[in-house]
Amino acid sequence: MPSKIAQQLLNWYHEHARSLPWREDPAPYRVWVSEIMLQQTRVETVLAYFERWIAQFPNVKILAAAHEQEVLQCWEGLGYYSRARNLHRAARIVVDAHGGELPTDRQTLESLPGIGPYTAGAITSIAFGQDEAALDGNIRRVYARLFNVDQPTRERETEKHLWAIACQQLPSGQAGDYNQALMDLGATICTPRNPNCEACPLQNLCEAYTLDVQELRPVKIARPPVPHHTVAAAVIHRYGLVLIAQRPPNGLLGGLWEFPGGKQEDGESLPQALQREIMEELDTQIEVGEQLGIYNHAYTHFKVTLHAFHCRLTGGEPQALEASDLRWTAVSTLGDFPMGKLDRMISKDLQGE
Ligand code: SF4
Repeated sequence: MPSKIAQQLLNWYHEHARSLPWREDPAPYRVWVSEIMLQQTRVETVLAYFERWIAQFPNVKILAAAHEQEVLQCWEGLGYYSRARNLHRAARIVVDAHGGELPTDRQTLESLPGIGPYTAGAITSIAFGQDEAALDGNIRRVYARLFNVDQPTRERETEKHLWAIACQQLPSGQAGDYNQALMDLGATICTPRNPNCEACPLQNLCEAYTLDVQELRPVKIARPPVPHHTVAAAVIHRYGLVLIAQRPPNGLLGGLWEFPGGKQEDGESLPQALQREIMEELDTQIEVGEQLGIYNHAYTHFKVTLHAFHCRLTGGEPQALEASDLRWTAVSTLGDFPMGKLDRMISKDLQGE
């Protein structure tokens, strides 16, 4: 017998489930791609990217055979690029070691790059119909409220407690729908701020609602303020071309292309910072000219204000001391190189868009 929570939630889901492309055709590859895209990203944003991705890489074999630059380009704008790189690496492993079929057991899935306990639970339950629990930020929040969990959800003991709840509540034979129902409830009703308890199908079972502490759950750990960096970037011109550098394969924005530069340090002017960075990164000298623009972007753990300048090479040939590769390219072809948000803004300004 399903629990009361599972029963009421499933009834609600069968009436109110959001219509999503990976639900209409829950093939394992599609569910996998959607779950990776949905990490840290809203459904509304993912929809267009998902359709584009499936059109370009309709199955795991085509993805495995693609060049990493094509993969990053298709992902451009979705952020957290390690997700795309891991998806690509995992596709190659699936083709090389598993005959092109996504493994059906949780443990093997979790051995693939980018697939953690949540994603493995989502894939096995939704695509393979297995009785597997899933716990992500949305679902943690819903359980923390339903069971009035008064400890921070990311603490080890609380995490164990939440997994135990998730396993205990799982309705046998309906885990895929149940996990998706929790995701929908967390995304549309039991939202981080101002949960819409009046519309909630679980209101009569919710301990936090009964105690009127739903806004205080989940308990959060105070985070230190987000640092703000001032950065300078050089658009170095030569013979009608501009210089771009490819970031190293791993780490933030790994494998993407950028205009070289770096952080301003205490006591430096922006042109001084840029000249120092270019010397450190490219072993050459530049003359810093007119400012092209100022660009702002917030990453998860820090914010950046970037000042871009037109520059002219005055030293020797640039060397890729820190970058994976360097390329002189026409402004009109900058769109062929995958870039992060800030560098794409510079690129578009250069193209007069
Ligand atoms: Fe969330 Fe409110 Fe529903 Fe409780 S009653 S699960 S707090 S939306």
